[in-house]
Amino acid sequence: MTNSKDYSHIIDCLRTKSRCLWLNERLFPNCRPDQSILAGIADAGARFKRCEPLLAAVFNELGPTGGRIESPLTNAGKLAACSPVTAPGAWFIKRDDLLPVAGSIKARGGFHEVLAYAEKLALDHGIINPTSDRRCLAEEAARGLFSAHKILVGSTGNLGLAIGTLSAALGFRSEVHMSADARQWKKDRLLARGVAVVEHQGDYSAAVATARSLMKESDYFVDDEASALLFYGYATAALELKMQLHAVGRKVDSQTPLLVYLPCGVGGAPGGITVGLKAIFGPDVHCFFAEPVASPCMLLQLCSGQTGPVSVAEIGLDNKTEADGLAVGQASLFVAHRIQEMLAGVFTVSDDELYENMALVEKHLGFLPEPSAAAGLRGPMWLNETEAGREYLRRHQIVPDHATHVIWTTGGSLVPELQRIHYRNTAEMKIRSLRSGLIART
Ligand SMILES: *Cc1c(COP(=O)(O)O)cnc(C)c1O
Repeated sequence: MTNSKDYSHIIDCLRTKSRCLWLNERLFPNCRPDQSILAGIADAGARFKRCEPLLAAVFNELGPTGGRIESPLTNAGKLAACSPVTAPGAWFIKRDDLLPVAGSIKARGGFHEVLAYAEKLALDHGIINPTSDRRCLAEEAARGLFSAHKILVGSTGNLGLAIGTLSAALGFRSEVHMSADARQWKKDRLLARGVAVVEHQGDYSAAVATARSLMKESDYFVDDEASALLFYGYATAALELKMQLHAVGRKVDSQTPLLVYLPCGVGGAPGGITVGLKAIFGPDVHCFFAEPVASPCMLLQLCSGQTGPVSVAEIGLDNKTEADGLAVGQASLFVAHRIQEMLAGVFTVSDDELYENMALVEKHLGFLPEPSAAAGLRGPMWLNETEAGREYLRRHQIVPDHATHVIWTTGGSLVPELQRIHYRNTAEMKIRSLRSGLIART
């Protein structure tokens, strides 16, 4: 199935932490999700809709938007002409860093799963019926019920932030198991809301495994490695993007295709969005993931062609990266199986490049994404400036000038000022040393 020469070449690149673009040989451009997945996405959209009044009642900051969990699509034309990321086509940024309350893409999946669980408990206990106003879930009876249940989750930071924040707001007890990569400010934010935060020395997979093992009868575990509810929550972003592209007059068809670049950790968020986009745009959308050179778990899983789990440790990688949200050594098999024929490819990003990307976004677009959220920025460059990328464009008859690029920035608006300053300083330092390195070499 996999050309063994290409396979060993890509494994060599990964082993040495060289940046690379991997193209998925099993991509089937016309592949669309099956009926059960479509039904799951439709359910998630309906759940968000009926829970908007509830979310608006629970979070003050959602008052103005009536409880909608949505992010803006903004023009990023300034980046198109900007070395070294430059590439032709129309550029947009999907600003999930601005998603309300949770400040990251995890609001989509995480809120959806907590809402689904709250609804189910309340239905089972006769507190609501299927057509009840969901604001009932913020009233005494529901809160009393929820306080007898605990929600557990393992996270590198942002999922815990999303799950913990909504769980606490609805009156659940919650326990967030954070990997060693998790930033202190994310833990502090949860502690301030009364969420139990358990710190682990190990990585994300270990934190998830512990959380899973601690679950008791009345508890609920949000399984980031295998949750359909998270996946469908993320997928609802596709319809939102479709309406936003329409509003700015960007048609998506075979002449003017859509290229989307998504940072990937365990795979739930970018995988759900990929499946959602494939359901809407079919062969006219091309989804690429971005992963750190130390944690290319989805690339490795998909290119290995194996049905069982494959870890980056098996090829000697340490899973150590500044992109805390992407520090995952083993991809979700649940997701890998669902996107195997839908994903166009994966490119990898070094930590230096992440900081350079962050600085570029801040300079040209005026906001600072967190490191994970800046991973997708070089996607258009990979396709236009490398032989493999241009071959992909030719094979799929994509005229570079006619492409619409959407780069997903996945988190960062809640980063506290001190951490922000630290990010900026690090970016400046890296850029300076990269430059002097260049000068030294010439
Ligand atoms: C979690 C996360 C991702 C990736 O989502 P996965 O579901 O883990 O693949 C990307 N960016 C940020 C900022 C994240 O927190």
